Amino acid sequence: MKVITRFAPSPTGFLHIGGARTALFNYLFAKRFNGKFLLRIEDTDIKRSTNEAIEAIHQGLKWLNLIADDKTVYQSKNIDNHKLIAENLLKNGHAYKCYLSEEEQSEIRKNCLKNGLPFRSPWREKKGIIEQLPYVVRIKMPNDGITEINDIVQGNVKVSNKQLDDFVLLRSNGLPTYMLAVVVDDHNMGITHIIRGDDHLNNAFRQFWIYKALDWSIPEFAHIPLIHGEDGAKLSKRHGALGVQEYKEMGFFSKSVNSYLMNLGWRDSEKELIGLDQASKIFEINQIGKSPSRFNISKLKNINSYFLKSENKVSLIQLILKRSNNSSSDFEEKLSKVIHSLIERAETVNDLIYATNWFNGKEYEKIFENKEIFKDEEIALLISFKESLTNKIIDSKIEMEAHFNNWLSLKNINFKHIGKPLRHCLTGKGSSIDLISILDVLGVEEIINRITYNLNNNKP
Ligand code: GLU
Repeated sequence: MKVITRFAPSPTGFLHIGGARTALFNYLFAKRFNGKFLLRIEDTDIKRSTNEAIEAIHQGLKWLNLIADDKTVYQSKNIDNHKLIAENLLKNGHAYKCYLSEEEQSEIRKNCLKNGLPFRSPWREKKGIIEQLPYVVRIKMPNDGITEINDIVQGNVKVSNKQLDDFVLLRSNGLPTYMLAVVVDDHNMGITHIIRGDDHLNNAFRQFWIYKALDWSIPEFAHIPLIHGEDGAKLSKRHGALGVQEYKEMGFFSKSVNSYLMNLGWRDSEKELIGLDQASKIFEINQIGKSPSRFNISKLKNINSYFLKSENKVSLIQLILKRSNNSSSDFEEKLSKVIHSLIERAETVNDLIYATNWFNGKEYEKIFENKEIFKDEEIALLISFKESLTNKIIDSKIEMEAHFNNWLSLKNINFKHIGKPLRHCLTGKGSSIDLISILDVLGVEEIINRITYNLNNNKP
């Protein structure tokens, strides 16, 4: 049997981090068994589905490299088929037309609840058609016994059939419900394993009976625990960004997000980080724990800073140039001088970009936004250092270091007398990298200009 999995998001918002993990586990499981990973957009809820959300899902999956093995299936295109199956269920006696009005329905529901019984419509036993009255199509659920699912993650789970209502398959407007559509589509797509959030476990008990009523083979289920926030509550906006796109914009690599998501439920975070290819070879779905994992942004940052350090420097520089909208050779040259030091202090690409602010362009007003007032003795030293550079030609970092140390000894001072004011004069508050590297990046002329600018502005 060829394994076929699917990711089936409803396009009502961005691709969130929980959805991304569901997609990832479906992808890894399919790849592990040389199977297929499919994407189905569940867009039957016309009011809530949007094209932006569909686009965000596609973009998010593309960024994460979770590429489906076939064309995307749009559930809304299968509605005729869903209706046909509902017809078949009516014909084979596993479903019935229910003509109850809203009021009648809620009255019966109340009574059933009071008596600890599942919802059953009187139309279940009645025959006949009432012309012109709207109706819904309901499934006939078993009255006794239990429904049992051997879930790969949750284990053997059971529910008493006394808890399962005759739920709706077709609404009064003739449109299928999620419950029907999902089963019909999964069957038609040949899905062998349904891997999804455990908030759908209750649906599985119901969907089970649609498969049974149609005499279709039931796929394996794996209901994975949801991701919670650090405080243990269900992940929500207040725990930080939820959309995959936002992580991209914050300067995370997709491989960091994937590696981190693997840690949420499957791999121990102590294990070495692996990419999609390697994970595809060793993924074990039954290793996923039953308890919810907690999302921790600092762990994601740690992983990203690890990948940042191992990233090819040339491509990283290109990425920074592109993201900063500055591809001047001057900026590129400066970047290549300090990229190693910058990486040590950065967790994301955005951190790196931020750390280049002091040498990305020469807009002094911006760089020296936070004004510093120097003391008289500092001013004297800054002037002296500036003068020491006048008409000097310095071609390398070693020469710059020698010049600086020389000047310190001539003045008979040490680093602590000049470090802070000089750093401020050259970078504003913008950098914590070592001073010699800063001097080297800027070069003689720019150092002189910046000291001059700051001294001219040295007024309260
Ligand atoms: N469309 C459903 C959702 O986004 C998932 C359906 C399923 O996986 O069965 O929650």
